[in-house]
Amino acid sequence: MPIPARFRRARLVRCLAVGATLASVAINAAEEKRNYRYSDAHLHSVDFFQQGEDLSQLLSAMDAAGVDHAMISGMSLMKKWQEDEPKRPDTYAGDDAAVYWFSATDAYLAAALNALDPAQRQRMHPFLSGFNPTDKNADLHLQKMITLHPGLWRGIGEIITRHDDLTALTEGEVPRANSEAMFRVYAFAEKHKLPVQLHSNITSKRERNPLYVKELEDALSEFREVRFIWAHAGTSKTLHRFQGKMDFLLPEVTRLLSEHSNLSIDLSWTVLETYLLDAEGKPDPDWLALVDRYPTRFMIGSDLLGRYAKLNEKLHSFDVFLNALPADTARKVARDNFLALLPREGARPLPE
Ligand SMILES: [Zn+2]
Repeated sequence: MPIPARFRRARLVRCLAVGATLASVAINAAEEKRNYRYSDAHLHSVDFFQQGEDLSQLLSAMDAAGVDHAMISGMSLMKKWQEDEPKRPDTYAGDDAAVYWFSATDAYLAAALNALDPAQRQRMHPFLSGFNPTDKNADLHLQKMITLHPGLWRGIGEIITRHDDLTALTEGEVPRANSEAMFRVYAFAEKHKLPVQLHSNITSKRERNPLYVKELEDALSEFREVRFIWAHAGTSKTLHRFQGKMDFLLPEVTRLLSEHSNLSIDLSWTVLETYLLDAEGKPDPDWLALVDRYPTRFMIGSDLLGRYAKLNEKLHSFDVFLNALPADTARKVARDNFLALLPREGARPLPE
């Protein structure tokens, strides 16, 4: 059905108005020098082999990059060096061997954090991730970890559910954001006021529609008190390779934000490279308008895996996008929105 002329006109006027506002913001941003302070809302202390540099190196990298705070998570999956493989793989995709769920990642992280002094630890916000999201015992692990380390844990994640090739390599059942096991995890999160960071691809490598969005949406609808952070807005490098730019992503993110006030979006790198910036590195006006409309719902992260030399480059790569936002919104996205989701204190066992 053709769009009536008056709506076309209204849309054009709106677009021009948004365009004009954003353009003037961009000019203002160029004039004023903005020195952002950051929160890294997506960071892993180890890689898929559970290896990582010392957290003192992370702290130095944070100081050098202007990062005041960091979410820090282990890695819930471990890549197997299989008997028939002559070479130790470099990444999970290095060969056809499986990956498996690895709970010790949380214990490694706790030990690394406990080696820091209290002032250093204030800047780290550890999230629990070492459980199998298809196992209805997952919440028992969470309970055990907050009992062993009362007051330490500030969130749950990155939980890896739908993740294209990584899911295909994972031993056991396919993890879903709306499984019974995950609902028990969300109930635990709700009880302890812990935010949940979820990696849940919006679709598969081949389906050009939001195939899996219902899984995320079931979680959002069922647990309205839980703050969810959608890692990479449901994208991944592999999805990008197979799908190119998914034209349904922006409409879906827009719809989900309007319908679910408990949803926040992690814009880290696959979103930045493919959606926030165009081929010439210019900020995309539609994504700018969306962030401008929901200034408290977006955050950024490096997604580094236990090696921190690129922290500065990763976070400053958002500056061109941030510079095109109003200064107050940019500050929120760069630093404050992540902090606003955290509980006042780390989780402790609750009285029966
Ligand atoms: Zn990650």
